[in-house]
Amino acid sequence: MKKLRLAIIGLTACSGCQLSLLNCEEELPGLLDLFEFHLFPMACSPALLEGEYDAALVEGCVSTPHERELLLELRKRSQYLIALGTCAVWGGVAALRNGEDREVLRQQVYGQSRIACETAEPQPLRSVVRVDAVINGCPPEKNELLGLLADLARGTLPAEIDYPVCTECRMRENLCLLTEGDKLCLGLLTSGGCKARCPSMAVPCEGCRGPVPEANLAEAMELYAQKGFDRITVLERLCRFYPEWKL
Ligand code: SF4
Ligand code: SF4
Repeated sequence: MKKLRLAIIGLTACSGCQLSLLNCEEELPGLLDLFEFHLFPMACSPALLEGEYDAALVEGCVSTPHERELLLELRKRSQYLIALGTCAVWGGVAALRNGEDREVLRQQVYGQSRIACETAEPQPLRSVVRVDAVINGCPPEKNELLGLLADLARGTLPAEIDYPVCTECRMRENLCLLTEGDKLCLGLLTSGGCKARCPSMAVPCEGCRGPVPEANLAEAMELYAQKGFDRITVLERLCRFYPEWKL
Protein backbone atom coordinates (compact mmCIF):
# COMPACT_ATOMS: atom_id res chain seq x y z
CA MET A 1 0.00 0.00 0.00
CA LYS A 2 1.31 3.42 -0.97
CA LYS A 3 2.12 5.58 2.03
CA LEU A 4 0.23 8.85 2.41
CA ARG A 5 2.44 11.90 2.24
CA LEU A 6 1.86 14.32 5.11
CA ALA A 7 3.07 17.83 5.82
CA ILE A 8 2.81 19.01 9.41
CA ILE A 9 3.45 22.72 9.75
CA GLY A 10 3.46 25.17 12.64
CA LEU A 11 2.54 28.82 12.06
CA THR A 12 2.18 31.25 14.99
CA ALA A 13 1.94 28.61 17.70
CA CYS A 14 3.50 27.20 20.82
CA SER A 15 4.09 23.84 19.10
CA GLY A 16 1.90 22.12 21.72
CA CYS A 17 -0.26 20.53 19.03
CA GLN A 18 2.75 18.99 17.30
CA LEU A 19 4.03 17.88 20.69
CA SER A 20 0.72 16.10 21.37
CA LEU A 21 1.22 14.13 18.18
CA LEU A 22 4.80 13.39 19.13
CA ASN A 23 3.54 12.14 22.48
CA CYS A 24 1.76 9.27 20.71
CA GLU A 25 4.99 7.38 21.29
CA GLU A 26 3.54 3.90 21.25
CA GLU A 27 1.59 4.42 18.05
CA LEU A 28 4.10 6.46 15.99
CA PRO A 29 6.32 3.53 14.88
CA GLY A 30 3.23 1.76 13.48
CA LEU A 31 2.11 4.95 11.76
CA LEU A 32 5.35 4.99 9.78
CA ASP A 33 3.96 2.00 7.82
CA LEU A 34 1.06 4.17 6.66
CA PHE A 35 2.45 7.68 6.40
CA GLU A 36 5.48 9.49 5.14
CA PHE A 37 5.98 12.51 7.36
CA HIS A 38 7.68 14.78 4.85
CA LEU A 39 7.50 17.87 7.05
CA PHE A 40 7.20 17.63 10.83
CA PRO A 41 9.45 20.28 12.43
CA MET A 42 9.34 18.83 15.94
CA ALA A 43 10.28 15.37 14.76
CA CYS A 44 12.18 15.64 11.46
CA SER A 45 15.16 17.55 10.10
CA PRO A 46 14.24 20.86 8.44
CA ALA A 47 12.80 20.46 4.93
CA LEU A 48 11.22 22.66 2.30
CA LEU A 49 7.82 22.28 0.67
CA GLU A 50 8.28 19.83 -2.13
CA GLY A 51 5.80 18.06 -4.40
CA GLU A 52 2.19 17.24 -3.51
CA TYR A 53 0.74 16.16 -0.16
CA ASP A 54 -2.16 13.88 0.61
CA ALA A 55 -2.84 16.02 3.67
CA ALA A 56 -1.41 19.05 5.43
CA LEU A 57 -1.93 19.36 9.18
CA VAL A 58 -1.46 22.97 10.16
CA GLU A 59 -0.96 24.16 13.73
CA GLY A 60 -1.19 27.81 14.80
CA CYS A 61 -2.71 30.91 13.30
CA VAL A 62 -1.61 33.31 10.59
CA SER A 63 0.12 36.47 11.75
CA THR A 64 2.80 37.32 9.19
CA PRO A 65 2.92 37.75 5.39
CA HIS A 66 5.33 34.81 5.21
CA GLU A 67 2.87 32.53 7.03
CA ARG A 68 0.10 33.64 4.71
CA GLU A 69 2.19 32.77 1.63
CA LEU A 70 3.25 29.45 3.13
CA LEU A 71 -0.35 28.54 3.88
CA LEU A 72 -1.53 29.46 0.39
CA GLU A 73 1.26 27.39 -1.14
CA LEU A 74 0.47 24.46 1.15
CA ARG A 75 -3.18 24.65 0.17
CA LYS A 76 -2.25 24.41 -3.51
CA ARG A 77 -0.13 21.34 -2.90
CA SER A 78 -2.45 19.42 -0.54
CA GLN A 79 -5.53 17.33 -1.19
CA TYR A 80 -6.74 17.98 2.36
CA LEU A 81 -5.80 20.82 4.67
CA ILE A 82 -6.65 20.28 8.32
CA ALA A 83 -6.61 22.92 11.05
CA LEU A 84 -4.91 21.38 14.04
CA GLY A 85 -5.72 22.88 17.42
CA THR A 86 -7.59 25.90 18.67
CA CYS A 87 -5.14 28.51 17.33
CA ALA A 88 -5.56 27.17 13.81
CA VAL A 89 -9.32 26.71 14.10
CA TRP A 90 -10.37 29.80 16.09
CA GLY A 91 -7.36 32.05 16.64
CA GLY A 92 -6.74 30.80 20.16
CA VAL A 93 -4.43 32.43 22.67
CA ALA A 94 -2.34 34.05 19.93
CA ALA A 95 -5.37 36.16 19.00
CA LEU A 96 -6.15 37.07 22.61
CA ARG A 97 -5.19 40.72 22.17
CA ASN A 98 -6.77 41.24 18.75
CA GLY A 99 -8.52 44.58 18.54
CA GLU A 100 -5.84 46.34 20.60
CA ASP A 101 -3.30 48.75 19.13
CA ARG A 102 -0.49 46.58 17.72
CA GLU A 103 2.13 49.31 18.10
CA VAL A 104 1.34 49.60 21.82
CA LEU A 105 1.53 45.80 22.15
CA ARG A 106 4.84 45.75 20.26
CA GLN A 107 6.36 48.31 22.62
CA GLN A 108 5.11 46.41 25.67
CA VAL A 109 6.84 43.25 24.45
CA TYR A 110 9.94 44.54 22.64
CA GLY A 111 10.42 48.05 24.03
CA GLN A 112 12.35 50.32 21.68
CA SER A 113 14.16 47.49 19.92
CA ARG A 114 13.26 46.89 16.30
CA ILE A 115 11.69 43.64 15.19
CA ALA A 116 12.66 42.29 11.84
CA CYS A 117 9.36 40.97 10.57
CA GLU A 118 6.04 42.54 9.79
CA THR A 119 3.09 41.14 11.78
CA ALA A 120 -0.67 41.50 11.68
CA GLU A 121 -3.53 40.47 13.95
CA PRO A 122 -3.42 36.66 14.26
CA GLN A 123 -6.22 35.01 12.29
CA PRO A 124 -7.49 31.43 12.03
CA LEU A 125 -6.61 29.46 8.90
CA ARG A 126 -10.11 29.71 7.41
CA SER A 127 -9.62 33.47 6.99
CA VAL A 128 -6.97 32.70 4.34
CA VAL A 129 -7.68 29.26 2.84
CA ARG A 130 -10.36 26.60 2.58
CA VAL A 131 -10.10 24.17 5.50
CA ASP A 132 -11.33 20.61 4.99
CA ALA A 133 -11.54 19.48 8.61
CA VAL A 134 -10.71 20.71 12.10
CA ILE A 135 -9.33 19.17 15.25
CA ASN A 136 -10.15 21.37 18.23
CA GLY A 137 -8.30 21.58 21.50
CA CYS A 138 -5.47 23.42 23.14
CA PRO A 139 -3.82 21.07 22.66
CA PRO A 140 -5.92 18.42 20.88
CA GLU A 141 -6.57 15.12 22.61
CA LYS A 142 -4.34 12.19 21.67
CA ASN A 143 -7.31 10.02 20.68
CA GLU A 144 -8.53 12.74 18.29
CA LEU A 145 -5.12 12.98 16.60
CA LEU A 146 -4.92 9.24 16.19
CA GLY A 147 -8.52 9.21 14.96
CA LEU A 148 -7.63 11.84 12.36
CA LEU A 149 -4.72 9.75 11.09
CA ALA A 150 -6.95 6.65 11.00
CA ASP A 151 -9.54 8.59 8.98
CA LEU A 152 -6.89 9.82 6.54
CA ALA A 153 -5.57 6.28 6.12
CA ARG A 154 -9.13 5.19 5.21
CA GLY A 155 -9.45 8.09 2.78
CA THR A 156 -11.99 9.99 4.88
CA LEU A 157 -12.04 13.03 7.16
CA PRO A 158 -13.18 13.35 10.78
CA ALA A 159 -16.78 14.42 11.33
CA GLU A 160 -17.45 17.77 12.95
CA ILE A 161 -18.18 17.52 16.68
CA ASP A 162 -21.61 19.03 17.18
CA TYR A 163 -22.20 18.49 20.90
CA PRO A 164 -20.94 20.48 23.89
CA VAL A 165 -18.60 19.44 26.69
CA CYS A 166 -21.70 19.15 28.91
CA THR A 167 -22.86 16.09 26.95
CA GLU A 168 -19.72 14.14 27.79
CA CYS A 169 -19.66 15.56 31.32
CA ARG A 170 -23.18 14.25 31.99
CA MET A 171 -22.31 10.89 30.44
CA ARG A 172 -19.52 10.64 33.00
CA GLU A 173 -22.11 11.36 35.72
CA ASN A 174 -20.18 14.34 37.09
CA LEU A 175 -21.86 16.80 39.40
CA CYS A 176 -22.41 20.03 37.47
CA LEU A 177 -19.89 22.66 38.56
CA LEU A 178 -22.16 25.44 37.29
CA THR A 179 -25.61 24.48 38.48
CA GLU A 180 -24.56 22.56 41.60
CA GLY A 181 -21.23 24.21 42.38
CA ASP A 182 -21.86 27.83 41.29
CA LYS A 183 -18.60 27.90 39.33
CA LEU A 184 -18.13 29.61 35.97
CA CYS A 185 -17.94 26.56 33.72
CA LEU A 186 -18.03 27.16 29.96
CA GLY A 187 -18.87 23.59 29.02
CA LEU A 188 -22.33 24.38 27.69
CA LEU A 189 -20.92 26.65 24.94
CA THR A 190 -17.77 24.69 24.20
CA SER A 191 -17.23 22.01 21.58
CA GLY A 192 -16.98 18.52 23.07
CA GLY A 193 -14.53 15.78 22.23
CA CYS A 194 -12.29 16.05 25.30
CA LYS A 195 -14.49 13.67 27.31
CA ALA A 196 -14.98 16.53 29.78
CA ARG A 197 -11.38 16.21 30.91
CA CYS A 198 -11.39 19.27 33.20
CA PRO A 199 -14.89 19.12 34.78
CA SER A 200 -14.24 15.45 35.55
CA MET A 201 -11.43 16.66 37.82
CA ALA A 202 -13.66 19.36 39.35
CA VAL A 203 -11.99 22.05 37.23
CA PRO A 204 -14.42 24.29 35.30
CA CYS A 205 -14.24 24.14 31.51
CA GLU A 206 -12.22 27.10 30.22
CA GLY A 207 -13.56 26.88 26.67
CA CYS A 208 -10.25 25.88 25.10
CA ARG A 209 -11.94 23.94 22.29
CA GLY A 210 -13.86 26.92 20.95
CA PRO A 211 -17.60 27.23 20.39
CA VAL A 212 -19.85 24.26 19.75
CA PRO A 213 -21.88 24.65 16.50
CA GLU A 214 -25.13 26.51 17.15
CA ALA A 215 -24.01 27.53 20.64
CA ASN A 216 -26.92 29.30 22.32
CA LEU A 217 -25.12 32.25 23.86
CA ALA A 218 -28.31 34.09 24.88
CA GLU A 219 -29.69 31.14 26.83
CA ALA A 220 -26.32 30.42 28.41
CA MET A 221 -25.98 34.05 29.48
CA GLU A 222 -29.31 33.80 31.30
CA LEU A 223 -28.10 30.77 33.20
CA TYR A 224 -24.81 32.46 34.05
CA ALA A 225 -26.68 35.57 35.22
CA GLN A 226 -28.84 33.41 37.51
CA LYS A 227 -25.60 32.12 39.01
CA GLY A 228 -24.29 35.66 39.54
CA PHE A 229 -21.88 35.94 36.60
CA ASP A 230 -22.22 39.12 34.58
CA ARG A 231 -21.98 39.21 30.79
CA ILE A 232 -18.55 40.93 30.68
CA THR A 233 -16.97 38.34 32.97
CA VAL A 234 -18.35 35.48 30.90
CA LEU A 235 -17.33 37.04 27.57
CA GLU A 236 -13.82 37.78 28.81
CA ARG A 237 -13.41 34.11 29.69
CA LEU A 238 -14.86 32.93 26.39
CA CYS A 239 -12.67 35.27 24.33
CA ARG A 240 -9.42 33.77 25.54
CA PHE A 241 -9.68 31.04 22.93
CA TYR A 242 -12.16 32.48 20.42
CA PRO A 243 -11.90 36.29 20.17
CA GLU A 244 -14.98 36.53 17.94
CA TRP A 245 -17.24 35.85 20.91
CA LYS A 246 -16.87 39.63 21.38
CA LEU A 247 -19.09 40.12 18.34
S1 SF4 B 1 -3.81 25.32 20.14
FE1 SF4 B 1 -2.84 25.48 22.16
S2 SF4 B 1 -1.30 23.85 22.14
FE2 SF4 B 1 -1.86 24.22 19.98
S3 SF4 B 1 -0.39 25.78 19.24
FE3 SF4 B 1 -2.19 26.90 20.00
S4 SF4 B 1 -1.65 27.42 22.14
FE4 SF4 B 1 -0.26 25.76 21.49
S1 SF4 C 1 -19.73 20.96 34.98
FE1 SF4 C 1 -19.53 22.26 33.18
S2 SF4 C 1 -19.28 20.84 31.48
FE2 SF4 C 1 -20.12 19.67 33.20
S3 SF4 C 1 -22.35 19.76 32.89
FE3 SF4 C 1 -21.81 21.46 34.24
S4 SF4 C 1 -21.54 23.23 32.86
FE4 SF4 C 1 -21.44 21.35 31.61
